[in-house]
Amino acid sequence: MRKPLIAGNWKLNKTVTEATELVSKLKNAVADIDTVEIMIAPPFTALSRIADLLQGCNITLGAQNCYPEACGAFTGEISAELLKDVGCQTVIIGHSERRQLFNEPDNFINRKMKATLKAGLTAILCIGETLQEREDELMFDVLTTQLQAGLTGLTAEQMQKVVIAYEPVWAIGTGKTASSDEAQEVHSFLRGILQGTVDQPTALATRIIYGGSVKPDNIDGLMAQNDIDGALVGGASLKAGEFERIIRFQ
Ligand code: PEP
Repeated sequence: MRKPLIAGNWKLNKTVTEATELVSKLKNAVADIDTVEIMIAPPFTALSRIADLLQGCNITLGAQNCYPEACGAFTGEISAELLKDVGCQTVIIGHSERRQLFNEPDNFINRKMKATLKAGLTAILCIGETLQEREDELMFDVLTTQLQAGLTGLTAEQMQKVVIAYEPVWAIGTGKTASSDEAQEVHSFLRGILQGTVDQPTALATRIIYGGSVKPDNIDGLMAQNDIDGALVGGASLKAGEFERIIRFQ
């Protein structure tokens, strides 16, 4: 049974004070929920404060990125080890903004996956096609490449701590979202690739979540699909009321 995961990616938003306010509201709003795993990924600067605030509650802490080396002369970078030390349980890896704005290639993303898992954290591997790739009918090839490259060298045991996030690039922060049927088609395809690449039990057990302009008014349709196991939420995770409604999908 795959427990739904609703994860908030705050991106480059919220001072420590603002983050504290948002988390205080969210904690109270969702305190009764135990059927959904809830995760938030604030900016690095707020992680320590938010880790303290989340002690003993049903919201877990994630980071938006990490560097593949554990320590050393890598000025400006943060490792999975340090994220674990500050209280993170999850790292978002390969977000399309990192792939596009920071030119992160698949082999670098794979190294981050391995480093995150080695540190004992959960890794959310983000994959997604651009609008051009979809229009050129390259979508399934692109997704297969990103998925297989991101997971290269991982064992079935390590896969227990991997979540896949399908995030069509054209739907991120644009207000456009894949229809529930379009998303289901891709999620089902990805589960098939997991079966071929790893094994059937892993394919059935791995959560595949959807991201791309998820809002209170489209979450219910998405979550009604067989292969959609949750959501990675950007903009709407910055407002306690909207994020709560997404977490309380029906
Ligand atoms: C994201 O940042 O992963 C995302 C899906 O953003 P948004 O919900 O704003 O489209």
